[in-house]
Amino acid sequence: MQNTTDLKRLLVLDDEPDVATTLCLMAEGAFFETQHTSDAEVFLEKIDTWSPTHVVVDLQMPDRDGVEVLQTLAKMGCGAAVIIASGLGGRILDSAARAAKENGLQFIGTLSKPFSRAAFRALLTTDVPTSLPRKVTSSAANLSSVTEEQLADALHNQVFVAHFQPKISCTNGALAGFECLARWPLKDGSMIPPDLFISLAEQTGLIHELSRQVYHFAMANLPQQVHSQGVKIALNLSPINLKDEGFPRWLLEKCEENDVAPSQVILEVTETASMDSPLALLENLTQFRIKGFQLSIDDFGVGYSSLVQLARLPFSELKIDQMFVKTVATSKESQKIVTAIVNLGKSLGLDVTAEGVEDPWALNFLHEIGCDEAQGYFIARPMATPAASAWTQPPFEV
Ligand code: C2E
Ligand code: CA
Ligand code: CA
Repeated sequence: MQNTTDLKRLLVLDDEPDVATTLCLMAEGAFFETQHTSDAEVFLEKIDTWSPTHVVVDLQMPDRDGVEVLQTLAKMGCGAAVIIASGLGGRILDSAARAAKENGLQFIGTLSKPFSRAAFRALLTTDVPTSLPRKVTSSAANLSSVTEEQLADALHNQVFVAHFQPKISCTNGALAGFECLARWPLKDGSMIPPDLFISLAEQTGLIHELSRQVYHFAMANLPQQVHSQGVKIALNLSPINLKDEGFPRWLLEKCEENDVAPSQVILEVTETASMDSPLALLENLTQFRIKGFQLSIDDFGVGYSSLVQLARLPFSELKIDQMFVKTVATSKESQKIVTAIVNLGKSLGLDVTAEGVEDPWALNFLHEIGCDEAQGYFIARPMATPAASAWTQPPFEV
C-alpha cells in the first residue's frame, strides 16, 4: 500500500472527452488518482481544492486558450508538474513550453496529439525539479538586486573571483578550454551570480574596473591544463570594454606576466544594441585580433542583426545560444536551428561552440552535425580553480 502523502494526483484540462478519459486511464495504470474537466474555471478551482501533483493543459480550448490558463497557474504559484498537450505543430508547443518555464512553472514536457502511451508514461515518471535550476545559497539567495554602492565597495575591496567551466571537443571529447565566469563571493561563502551585477556594472561604468579585476584573478589562478596542455581560456568582454582604448594592451601585459599566449585567449562578446557605432567597434575588435587574441560572438541566434555583424566583424568563433541547445533533445525546431547555425559558422570558416549541453542526447547530436566544441552542465559546471585543475576526461565517450 502506498502512503497517502505519496499519492500522485493528475488533473486534466481538455475539451475532448475521449482524450481526457484516455489520459486518466493511462495515469491510473501508473497509480495516479485522476480527475478531468473541459472547463477552465473548474480546472483552476480544483488546483486550489484538490492540489494535483500533475496537470495536463490542452492549448486549444473553445472558451479560453491554454496559454492564459498557464499564466493563471503561474500567478497562483501552482507547484504541480505541468504537461502541455496540443494537436498544434511543434513550434506552437515549443513556445508555450518556453513561456511556461519562464513564468516559473514546473514544466516537465509536451504531448503532441496524437500521442503515444509510452510518451505519456515517460512524462508521468519524470522527476519533478524541486528547486530552481540556478541555485544560490544562503544570503546570496535572498538577494534580488545589488546597489551601485555595494558594487563599488566590493570593487574597492577587490573581492571578485572567477570560476572555470570546461569546454570539450565534440569530435573526441578531449578538453578544449575553460570559460572564465565572474563570481562575487560573500563572507558566508555564498556567491552572487553575474546576472545580478554585470548589467549594473555596465550602466554605471564600473564594468571597466570589474573586467580588470576578474581577468586579473582568472589569469593568476588558471586551471593547470592551460599551462600543461595549452588549452584555451575564454573571457567575457562587455561591448562597453571596447570603448576602453588601453584595454587590449593591458590584457596583453597580463598574458605576458602569466605566461599565456594571446592565441590561447578567446574574448566572448555578446552583441547588444550598444554596438551602434560600427567603426569604433570594428577598430577595437581589430586591435584585439592584431595582438593575437581570438574573438567569439556569444549567445548567437538571439541577439541583434547577427548575420550582418558576423560578416563584417573579425570573429573567429561563434557560440550558439543555450536557449536552442538546451531544448535540442526535445524540439525539432531547435534541432533545425542548431544545425543551420553550425553550417553557417562552418561556411564562414568559424569555430562553432554550443553551450547549454544538459544531456547526452544533445552532445551526440552536436557530434553528428559537426559542431566543434561543447560546454554545459552535462559535461561540467563552472568550478573554482582547484576543482577545474583536477577535472579530467569526461566519463563518457562522444
Ligand atoms: P554566458 O557568457 O552566456 O555564460 C554562460 C552561462 O551559462 C554561465 O552562467 C554558466 O554557468 C551557464 N551555463 C553553462 N552551462 C549551462 C547549462 O548546461 N545549463 C544552464 N542552464 N546554464 C549553463 P553565469 O556564470 O551565471 O553567467 C551568466 C552571464 O554573466 C554570462 O553568460 C555572461 O554574459 C555574464 N558574465 C559572466 N562573467 C562575466 C565577465 O567576467 N564579464 C562580463 N562582461 N560578463 C560576464
Ligand atoms: Ca560567454
Ligand atoms: Ca553565452
